Amino acid sequence: MNSAKLGESPIAAQLRQGFRWLRFERSLERAFQREQHLQTQVQLRLNLVMAIALVVAFDALDRTVTTAEAGEFAQQVRYFVVVPGLLLCLGLTFLRAGPRLYPLLVRTLAPLAMVCVAAVEINASLHGSALHFSTMVLATIFVYYLAGLTFYGAAIANLVGLLTYVVGGTYAGLPAYLVTYNGMVLFFANVVGAAVAYNLETAWRTGWLEAQLLSEVALRDGLTGIFNRRRLDEHLARTWQQGAREMRSLALLMVDIDYFKNFNDQYGHQAGDESLKAVAGVLASSARRPLDFVARYGGEEFVVVLYDASRGYAEELAKHIQEGVAALAIPNAGSSVSPILTVSIGVAVGVPTLDRSPEGLLQLADEALYSAKHSGRNHVRVMEAEYEHLKTGMFQLKR
Ligand code: GH3
Ligand code: MG
Ligand code: MG
Repeated sequence: MNSAKLGESPIAAQLRQGFRWLRFERSLERAFQREQHLQTQVQLRLNLVMAIALVVAFDALDRTVTTAEAGEFAQQVRYFVVVPGLLLCLGLTFLRAGPRLYPLLVRTLAPLAMVCVAAVEINASLHGSALHFSTMVLATIFVYYLAGLTFYGAAIANLVGLLTYVVGGTYAGLPAYLVTYNGMVLFFANVVGAAVAYNLETAWRTGWLEAQLLSEVALRDGLTGIFNRRRLDEHLARTWQQGAREMRSLALLMVDIDYFKNFNDQYGHQAGDESLKAVAGVLASSARRPLDFVARYGGEEFVVVLYDASRGYAEELAKHIQEGVAALAIPNAGSSVSPILTVSIGVAVGVPTLDRSPEGLLQLADEALYSAKHSGRNHVRVMEAEYEHLKTGMFQLKR
């Protein structure tokens, strides 16, 4: 989605923009389908078992009412195509790859199943039994609501079934009145089925986005929209572990606005808030590699976490951020270092190890920031973690 505002979450952007044609942007769509599948997995298994039971029950029923010729064809289709297909779907829900593969499989098999059901019905009618038609309506309903298909998958499968019945039935020589009447019934069953399925899916999708947003709000800073301290702590803990496992370095940039108290005193708190948002925007647009992470640490301080970043890259990014803030050209008459708003940045670079905690690297970034402030502010200062000198204090893992 290219119209997301800087710092805005993809979920909030999707909810704001709406979703035409029942589709989210790619990564959200994938997450939605996966979670939808996982949430409904148990229900789906029950539905598939129910479908198999129904096929078997109708088969038993048929033996008492249909002719041998009609019954034999129906039996073959049911036991060699429909039941194995349903069992395949059922089996897939137990596999790890289920959430990924089930939607693909069911989207392929459902039209096939509807062709089979239509063929059984046409064949039965040709042999003097029009009773099977009711199972076609049942199958249509199952495909819309119980097979774990999204709206489009279900609509396509049912359209294929309807066309097979009308075209196939006409071609096979069923009486025109029968094809017309049954075709109409099936068509209107589809209209009603599709309308309800569409509304249901719209409601699901909206509900899902809202639930996602709610859990996200807890992790975003209310003023700037970028991640908050809580999310930073989580992210740091996770990337620290990952860095230790993969022996990749971590760089932390602690960014602090210079003379911000004076800025507030001079221009007011409202203007201060606007500047915080603008600076957050610069940070969010600067750290754009897939694993780069930006959060508001508190007050007028921000932290950037860079995974697998060299000292050179971290320093370059810090300079880039300084230039970006300078380019905002926000006047700060209360600053003794520049007529415009500036930032000081402390950078800490180190390779995580499992016996230490990320707080140490944060502490080092804080020391680097302190040093940058002492050098007269509007400075970047880089420190590399040398573990031997940092055996005490916060750099040790708290147990
Ligand atoms: P230094 O150059 O040493 O960083 O000085 P400073 O004035 O920026 O730092 P100090 O810690 O003395 O002041 C930070 C100020 O940031 C104080 C507070 O009013 C302001 N501040 C913190 N959070 C917010 C906020 O959400 N909105 C606004 N407008 N101001 C904030
Ligand atoms: Mg500060
Ligand atoms: Mg400050």
